[in-house]
Amino acid sequence: MAERNERYRGMFLHAKDTARGDRIVTFLCNEGLLSLFVFGGPKSSLRSAAMPFVSAEIEAYRDKRSEFIKLTGVNILETYEGIQKSFSHMQTASGAAEFVLHTSAFGGEYGQALTMMTALLRELSKIDERHAVLALHVFLWKALMPLGLAPDISTCERCGRSFTGKGALPGRLLMGDRSFLCAGCAEERRQQGFPASAMISFDAETLGCLHAVLQLPYGEAAHLMGSTRPSSNVMAIIESLAESAGEGPLQSLRLFH
Ligand SMILES: [Zn+2]
Repeated sequence: MAERNERYRGMFLHAKDTARGDRIVTFLCNEGLLSLFVFGGPKSSLRSAAMPFVSAEIEAYRDKRSEFIKLTGVNILETYEGIQKSFSHMQTASGAAEFVLHTSAFGGEYGQALTMMTALLRELSKIDERHAVLALHVFLWKALMPLGLAPDISTCERCGRSFTGKGALPGRLLMGDRSFLCAGCAEERRQQGFPASAMISFDAETLGCLHAVLQLPYGEAAHLMGSTRPSSNVMAIIESLAESAGEGPLQSLRLFH
């Protein structure tokens, strides 16, 4: 009996109730993204502990025949008060979780996804409401690296010209695409019929911001992004890349618009 009880350390990301009233929770840990059944009514203590954005050490029982895993114990390690600060804070946490689930934890980078989620949730308590949504953008931007989808933001994807070269900027990102193009190549694409309304403009400040936030903790990075003009272009670039990476729209981003 005992050998079937497994222990994991990680974070609950999602909970949903089945038609029968049981709950299925998704737990992110170094070993993977686990779907766990939580049996018992609304008043069960397991159920109240197995909530999204709770870090915990859990015990689970794996039934070898039916392939399901049942949650049997929860020892809460950390909760994150920052997510309660405002609707934006909660949306930022939800958006990050949604992206982790959409991409199967950055294509199987479970440990890295867990580290990034934990860091983001800890930092949220230090971030004001105005910058909370920007912290989500920082998260999405950082996540493109482990996904292997971080674009080259130093040279034009098409002609290889450096963005520091004279006349290379302002460049354009084609929405739905990962290519950062120099001014000349973007103009060529426009003449070939690519709609200008589906191009996002970037200049040296935009690129500088995208470079810099990778090195900063979420709070500082969100602040920097908020002071970059125009920050709406930085956000639009990240949203376009994140939705391409997640292969579909992210509900949490839609709620912000
Ligand atoms: Zn070019």
